[in-house]
Amino acid sequence: MAAHAHSYYAATAAPSPERPPLAEQAEADVCVIGGGFTGVASALTLAERGRSVILLEARRIGWGASGRNGGQVLPGWSGEGELVKQLGARGAEFLERTRYAGNEIIERTIARYGIDCDYVRGAMTVANNQRQFGALSQEFADAQKRGDSDHLTLVAAGDLRRHVAADVYCGGLVDARAGHCHPLNLVLGEARAAETLGARIFENAPVLEIIEGAQHAVRTEKGEVRAKTIILAGNAYHRLAKKALGGYMLPAQTFMMATAPLGEARAKALIPNNLAVADANWVLDYFRRTPDHRILFGGRCTYSNRVAADIGAELRPRLVRIFPDLAGAAIDYAWTGTIGIPLNRVPLIGEIAPGFFYAQGYSGHGVNCSHIAAEIIADAIDLKGADKNLFATARHFRIPAAGAIGNPMLAMGMTWFRIKDALGI
Ligand SMILES: Cc1cc2nc3c(=O)[nH]c(=O)nc-3n(C[C@H](O)[C@H](O)[C@H](O)COP(=O)(O)OP(=O)(O)OC[C@H]3O[C@@H](n4cnc5c(N)ncnc54)[C@H](O)[C@@H]3O)c2cc1C
Repeated sequence: MAAHAHSYYAATAAPSPERPPLAEQAEADVCVIGGGFTGVASALTLAERGRSVILLEARRIGWGASGRNGGQVLPGWSGEGELVKQLGARGAEFLERTRYAGNEIIERTIARYGIDCDYVRGAMTVANNQRQFGALSQEFADAQKRGDSDHLTLVAAGDLRRHVAADVYCGGLVDARAGHCHPLNLVLGEARAAETLGARIFENAPVLEIIEGAQHAVRTEKGEVRAKTIILAGNAYHRLAKKALGGYMLPAQTFMMATAPLGEARAKALIPNNLAVADANWVLDYFRRTPDHRILFGGRCTYSNRVAADIGAELRPRLVRIFPDLAGAAIDYAWTGTIGIPLNRVPLIGEIAPGFFYAQGYSGHGVNCSHIAAEIIADAIDLKGADKNLFATARHFRIPAAGAIGNPMLAMGMTWFRIKDALGI
C-alpha cells in the first residue's frame, strides 16, 4: 500500500482511511484519473452538478504535488506573459476574469463542506532587487488604474520588517485576497466532500491503459471503468496519452522543509502578520508559518531527476540568508515533489478526443489554477464556457523524444532563469 511522502503535512494530516483499489467492472458518467487538486476538484464540481463520478488514484489522495506543496494560494497563472503575447486582448480578459477564481472556489469549498485546513488569507511577494520592486510597483499601479487595488499594499523597504523580519529584500506587495493552507488536508477534505455527493474514489489504483471509444475504457490491474467522459489529471506523475501529450511538459523536482516548532513568540517575530511569502525570482524561495509555529520553507528545483541526498542541507543556507537567527534551528521534515513545467509555462488544458479531457502543467503555481482548470473542464463537459478552447488556441512547444533529451534541455533552460535571477534581469 502506498504511503504519503514523509512530510510535515502527512504528519499532521486529518485521518483518512485508505480506500480499496478498483476490483470490478464499473460504469460512470465521468472517470477521473489522478487524485490531486485537479482530479479531486473535478470530481467534486462534477458531483455537485449531478454527474456520477469514479476517481482512480495510483497511490493515495494528495500523494502527488497537491499534498506536498508550499500551500500558498496565489492568484493568477504561470505563463501569463506568453498567454497575452499569443492571444492579446482575449488572453488579458481571461487572466483578469480568473485572477482570483481559484481562491474563490477554494474558500467557497472550505466553507460549504467545513474543511479544516488552516486556511488564512494574506500573502506577500518580496523583491530581491530594485527591478523586481519596480515590477511590483507597476503591478500595484495597474491595479489602482483598474480600481481593483483595495486588497493590495505596496510596502517599501523601510516598512518591510512589519511583515517579514528580514533585511535581504527591497520591498514587497501584500495581497490580502491571496492565502495559505494545509494543502493535504484541503485535498483530503475535498475528496470526502465529493464522496458525500456520491463520487466513488479508489486508491492504490494506477490506471494502466485508456482505450478510446464512444464510451472510453479505463483499465487498472484488476478492474475497468467505462465512461463517456474521462479526465486525465495525473500531472507530472503519469505516462498516459503519450502520443497526444508527450514532450509538452517536463518534470522537475522541487524541495520543501519544515523547521522544528520555534515557539509562538519566535515564529511570530519572523512573519508577524502570518503572510505566505514568496520572492519574485524565476526560481523562487517561499515560506510561511504553521499553526504549531514552525517555518515551512520551499525552494530550489532540479531538472535531472537527481534528488539531493540531504534536502534540508540544500535548503538551509537559503533560509538562513533570510533569517540568520534560524542558523541553528532543527529541521524536522524535508521532502520533494514533482511539478510539470510546460516549455512556455502556459498550462496544458484541453480535449484529446471527444470526451477525453486533460489538465496539467501549472509549473509551481497550481493550487489556485488546478481548481480553475477543474471548472473549465466541467464547463466544457456541460457545453458551457469557452476557456478550454482558449488554452487549445495557445501555441505550445513540444520536444520530440522528450524522455531521452527533455530534461537536459529543461536543465539548460532553468540555468538561464537562474542567470536571469542572479543578474536581476
Ligand atoms: C514542493 C512543491 C511546492 C509547491 N508549492 C506550491 C505553492 O505553494 N503554491 C502553488 O500554487 N503551487 C505549488 N506547487 C504546485 C502545485 O502543488 C501543483 O501544481 C498542483 O498540486 C498540481 O495538482 P495536480 O492535481 O494537477 O497534480 P498532483 O497533485 O501531482 O496529482 C497527480 C496525481 O495523479 C496520480 N496519478 C498519476 N498517474 C496516475 C495513473 N496512471 N493512474 C492513477 N493516478 C495517477 C498521482 O499519484 C498523483 O496523486 C508546488 C509543488 C511542489 C511539488
